[in-house]
Amino acid sequence: MKYEPYRATSMINRLRHVDDWFWASYTVNPYRGCAHGCVYCDARANQYGLSEDFEETVFVKENAVEVLGKQLPRLKRGVVSTGGVCDSYQPIEQERRLTRKVVKALAGHQFPVEVLTKSDLVLRDLDLYAEASRQSWACVFFTITTFDEQIAGRFEPGASPPDRRLEAMRQVAGAGVVTGVAMMPLLPGISDDDRNIEDVISRVRDAGGQFVLAGGLTLKEGAQRQRYIGVLESHYPQVLPLYEQLYGSGFETRGSYGPQLLRRVREVCLQHGIADRMSRPVLPDDPLGLNKRIAERLFLRTYDLLLEEAESYRQWAYRKAAWAVDEMEEDVGDLYRQQGRKGLESIKGIGKGLSREIEGWLQSAEGTANDRLEVDHGQR
Ligand code: SF4
Repeated sequence: MKYEPYRATSMINRLRHVDDWFWASYTVNPYRGCAHGCVYCDARANQYGLSEDFEETVFVKENAVEVLGKQLPRLKRGVVSTGGVCDSYQPIEQERRLTRKVVKALAGHQFPVEVLTKSDLVLRDLDLYAEASRQSWACVFFTITTFDEQIAGRFEPGASPPDRRLEAMRQVAGAGVVTGVAMMPLLPGISDDDRNIEDVISRVRDAGGQFVLAGGLTLKEGAQRQRYIGVLESHYPQVLPLYEQLYGSGFETRGSYGPQLLRRVREVCLQHGIADRMSRPVLPDDPLGLNKRIAERLFLRTYDLLLEEAESYRQWAYRKAAWAVDEMEEDVGDLYRQQGRKGLESIKGIGKGLSREIEGWLQSAEGTANDRLEVDHGQR
């Protein structure tokens, strides 16, 4: 393993639209490369511009805090996700403490922060996340796809074992910080069976997790696909025909496999009383809090339609409407009060049907504080 110093010119990446799974508006990666070396990692895919041996050489952005100090004062507050592409709590963090400094800088500027990790090293910084929770919002969540040690050892060789991640999650929950699990990617023929899904969900719920977000595997052309298929050839040759059938030469599963998997996860989440989506953080002083809640509902409808295998144009209609409401500079409640449904229909992508739906939601929020529109995340 090699570590190289790296001078970053920019540290914060602004997303074109809010991430409707994790609610991030920005991403920050203190490291480039990841020593966890997960076999399925799609950061290996060419699109991220990382080297194919990205688990052999990790670049350390030593000037991260200095650059953030210049960038943060110019940005609107929004959730910052750390380590979305390369795990922020990979082993080098023990010594360099770079993520700790980055989180401190973000919290110092009152930015809500979240981290998704496969390492229990994050517990070292629990004080920071607990403080950020009190000041604005923080979420520390973990990738756990299985508790089978052999599968985890083969596919996530450098990460903390799943039992330790779960124990870390229990402590995060105990500290009053939002937590849960990304159960992704569930690997076809390996970890996508009902027993495994139920095992993960029930243990996460028992440990105080608030949500389980599930997702399937993507197989992108090039290094990621080659590496993954190589492991299947060595250890799971019996599932290769299944992959041929599900993926062919594409990067996503074909047909109903994906929605069916997510429906099964939703069903088990319902049985265990845990959400299958993450609740969107809306800060109490956000003047556009109601817009965010309306957008959240529209995003949830998009997800429901995905699970229902509705036509893609219908899913896109809700997604585009959600983006439009989310990115408005004016309070959607004011617009409705002044102009009624016509006002709602003046928002890009919102026609008669959607304006009726939004009107119903606005009416249910009437008389409550402007971000009190309740959104149900898993008890449906
Ligand atoms: S921890 Fe995440 S970023 Fe690191 S190798 Fe695994 S999947 Fe990739």
